[in-house]
Amino acid sequence: MKRKYLLIASTLVLALTNINAQVIIAHRGYWKTTGSAQNSIASLMKADSIALYGSEVDFWLSSDGVPVVNHDAEVTLNGEKLVVQDTPLATLRKVTLSNGETLPTVEEYLDAFAQCKHVKLIIEFKSHKSKEREDLLAEKVMDMVRQRGLQEKVEYIAFGVNFVQQARKLDPKAPVFYLNGDLSPQVLATMGLSGFDYHYNVLYKRPEWVKKAHELGQKVNVWTVNKPEDIQKVIDLKVDFITTDEPLLVREILQKQ
Ligand code: MG
Repeated sequence: MKRKYLLIASTLVLALTNINAQVIIAHRGYWKTTGSAQNSIASLMKADSIALYGSEVDFWLSSDGVPVVNHDAEVTLNGEKLVVQDTPLATLRKVTLSNGETLPTVEEYLDAFAQCKHVKLIIEFKSHKSKEREDLLAEKVMDMVRQRGLQEKVEYIAFGVNFVQQARKLDPKAPVFYLNGDLSPQVLATMGLSGFDYHYNVLYKRPEWVKKAHELGQKVNVWTVNKPEDIQKVIDLKVDFITTDEPLLVREILQKQ
């Protein structure tokens, strides 16, 4: 009988430990695997298939006002560089990703995401040439999220102060994180943000920001952590989320803790 209670107790402790453990976000989806590519729909489905906490993705607005998925400010089409925000959708749709997929629209991406069972979608709004274009992108994307009833499955991140403020304004309950590394948790609190998502070098210089953020009820995410020594360092810093191109390696290291 005693043994049974001990077993239940240790299972409970294990469960609690797991609840408190850091969680993994695949940077631009899980793309370092067969048939995948950065920011492809396949990379999102593959992140879901390994049951990660989140899959990150980058959004732009085409010149004719359609939200599209891409990381870089430019794409290459027939050897020519095109600026995504200055290019109409019809041209962007001629771009093929390295896994053969057509460059996705945000609508397509969200439709695929609606089928996911595990991952949250971590949406990065890329900085645009004008506040108006940025506001339009945030409005359109957040409308699409609302139409699909996905509000509780998405989080927003951005380097731009305008974007995080817009996201906060358009959905007061959404998790919104700031990426640029230059604002303290106290400042982020005055902006009503959920926390920060900074490069690991920022955290190495200001490890006290993690503790401060937690005291303020904020969460801490860190990018893009790929090397074993850095993964261990950010685990020891007690960050909440680890954004990585190596989700399986991070999982392996977390399991050894
Ligand atoms: Mg990104």
